[in-house]
Amino acid sequence: MAVKQFKAESKKLLDLMVNSIYSNKEIFLRELISNASDAIDKLYFKSLTDHSVPSRKEDYKIHLTLDKDNRTITLTDNGIGMTREELEKNLGTIARSGSFDFKAENKAEDIDIIGQFGVGFYSAFMVASRVTVISRAFGSDTAWKWESKGAEGYTITEADKPEVGTQVILVVKESTPEENYDRFLDEYTLVGIVKKYSDYVRYPIQMYREKTRQKEKPADAGEDYTPEYETYTELETLNSMVPLWKRSKGEVTDEEYNQFYKDKFYDFTDPARVIVSRTEGAATYNALLFIPGRAPYDYYTRDYEKGLQLYASGVLIMEKCADLLPDHFSFVKGVVDSQDLSLNISREMLQQDGRLKLIRSSLEKKIKNELNAMKTGEREKYEAFFKNFGRQLKYGCYADYGMHADQLKDLLLFYSAREKKMVTLAEYVEKMGADQKFIYYAAGDSADRLAKLPAAELVLDKGFDVLLLTEDVDEFCLQMLRRYGEKDAEKEFRNVSSGDLGLETEEEKKAAEEKTEANKALFDAMKEALAGKVEAVRLSTRLKSHPVCLSSEGPLSLEMEKVLSAMPGAEGAPKSQKVLEINADHPIFATLQSLQEKGETEKLGRYAGILYDQALLIEGLPIEDPVAYAQAVCELMQ
Ligand code: ADP
Ligand code: MG
Repeated sequence: MAVKQFKAESKKLLDLMVNSIYSNKEIFLRELISNASDAIDKLYFKSLTDHSVPSRKEDYKIHLTLDKDNRTITLTDNGIGMTREELEKNLGTIARSGSFDFKAENKAEDIDIIGQFGVGFYSAFMVASRVTVISRAFGSDTAWKWESKGAEGYTITEADKPEVGTQVILVVKESTPEENYDRFLDEYTLVGIVKKYSDYVRYPIQMYREKTRQKEKPADAGEDYTPEYETYTELETLNSMVPLWKRSKGEVTDEEYNQFYKDKFYDFTDPARVIVSRTEGAATYNALLFIPGRAPYDYYTRDYEKGLQLYASGVLIMEKCADLLPDHFSFVKGVVDSQDLSLNISREMLQQDGRLKLIRSSLEKKIKNELNAMKTGEREKYEAFFKNFGRQLKYGCYADYGMHADQLKDLLLFYSAREKKMVTLAEYVEKMGADQKFIYYAAGDSADRLAKLPAAELVLDKGFDVLLLTEDVDEFCLQMLRRYGEKDAEKEFRNVSSGDLGLETEEEKKAAEEKTEANKALFDAMKEALAGKVEAVRLSTRLKSHPVCLSSEGPLSLEMEKVLSAMPGAEGAPKSQKVLEINADHPIFATLQSLQEKGETEKLGRYAGILYDQALLIEGLPIEDPVAYAQAVCELMQ
C-alpha cells in the first residue's frame, strides 16, 4: 500500500506544530474534542434543512476510551464524518480547514464552530506515535481509515464502520527521560484535561469509569457483618456543557454565580459584584466577571498575575489572558468567551489581535460603569471594595503619566476631616463655598495626627474641609490629577503644608509682608544657621498655638519626600524645598528677636536648629541628628 506524502510545506509545518507551536502537550485532547464537537455541529446544522438527517440532538455525543495495556486513547463522535476525499483534503494538508470552508459556505447562518485554522488535529502527534482516523461520512456507505506515524506521510484504506461519524485512535508515545507521556494514560489526568479545557463543549463527553460501591447488606447478615465492596463501571458525562456566562442573568441565581466564582477562582469569599456582559458587533463576546470580596493575599505583590480566562466558543484557550485587563482593574476575575477567536492562536498573536483590543476596551468601560453603579447604589459595599482595591485605582491615576486619571478620578474616595467619612471628590467639591479656592488635603500616615496638624486645623477653622490622605500613593495621585471639578470651574488641589493656601485677605497679606520686612535681619540670620536645610525662613499666617511649622515650595511636598526616600534605592531621591514658618504671636518669637538684637548669633543659630527639628517632628519627618537635638533641649532645661 502506497504511503502518501504530506504536501511539501505540510511536512515542515507538521514538524513545527509538533515541536513548537504548542508549549503545552495536553491541549491535543482539547483539539480533538473540539473537532468532534464541530463535526456534530455540522451534522446537526444539516438536519435543520435536510430532513433525511435524523434530528436527534440528545443522541449526539463524544465518547472517550482509555486502554492502558495497548497505550491507546480513542475519541469517537457521531458527527458528520469524512469521505475519502475529505480525509485526504482535511488531514492530508496541514493548515487546511474543512470547518473554515463550512463556515464560509454557510455564512448567513450563525454557526458557532470552533475550528478554522486547520492545524489543531496535528497536535495529536505531540503525544501519539501513530494516529488512526476511521470515518464514515453522513450519506455514504463506505468507511475509510486514515493512518499516519507523523512526518513520513499517511495511508488511506477502506474500513469497516457501521455508524456515521469519526473515531480517532492515538497510540501514546513511550515515555522518555525528558517527557512523561505515560501520564496521558492515567484516567484522572485525562479526565482532568477534559474538564480543564472542554468543560463547556455543548455535547456530552462520556467515558466508562470504574467505580466502587458497598454491596447491599444481605437480609440474613448477622451482627458482625462487615460491609463488602464491588467494582462496577458507569458511563459518566465528564463535562458540564452549559457555560454559565451564556445563560442570561435572570436564569442564574446569585448562589450559582457565587459558587461558580468560588470554585473557579479558588476563593472562599463571595464576590462583591457579578458583572454579566454580552456584546455583539465588531467584537462578539460573552463575559462573566467578578469583583472579589477581598483582596488576594498576594494582590499587592509582584507575584500577583492579572488576567481573565479566555475561551473561544466555550473551549479554554488561555488561563490568564493579561491583555484583557488594564492594570488599574487587575483585581477583576472572570471569563471571556468569544466565537471570533481561534483556538490555535498563540500569546504573541493574541497581543496583536484587534478583536482582543476591542474586547478589552469594551470590558474596561463595563467595569467602570459597574463600579460607578456600586458607588451610587451600594455605598457601603463600595467602601469595602475601595478598602480592598482603592489603592490600585489610585496607582492607576498615577501610572502611565496620568493617562487613565480622567476616567478613574470619580471612583476615588478619600477621608474627609469634617464629614468624618469617606467622600468622593465630587462630594467634596459640591460642599465647597464660593469663597473656597482650593481642594485642601493633608498627607501623612495617620488621619488622627493629620487632623491635628496646625496647618490642617487652620483650614478647618476657616470652615473648609480637608481630605486626610494616609496612603503613600495618595498625594502622587492627586498631583497627577492637578485639579478637579466642573469644566472651567475646576479647583486645584492644595496641600495644607504648602506655601500659599489662599486663606488671607489682601490686608492680612500686606500686614504680613510688612512684618516680614521689619524682621528681615532675623530671618536672614536664621536661614544662614539652617543653610542647606531650608529654602527660606518666613513669617507664618497659618499658625495659632505652635511657634513654628514647615511648609514646602515647589512640586514636591514634605510627605512625598518621605514616600520617595522610603523606597528601595532611594539615595539621591529628590528632596522637597522646605520653608520654616514662624508664628509672630508666639512668645518664642520675642525671644528670637531679642537674641538677634543683642547679637547673640551663636545662640540664635542653636535655637533655630531646635525649632527646625521640632517642626520636622510635628510633620512626622525624621530629624537628622536626634542625639544633638536631645542634648540641645537638655541644655535649655538645666
Ligand atoms: P480546524 O479544526 O481548525 O479546521 P483541524 O486540523 O483541527 O483544523 O482539522 C482539520 C479539518 O479536519 C477540520 O476542519 C475538519 O474538516 C476535519 N476534521 C477533523 N476532525 C474531524 C472529525 N472528528 N469529524 C469530521 N471532520 C473532522
Ligand atoms: Mg480543530
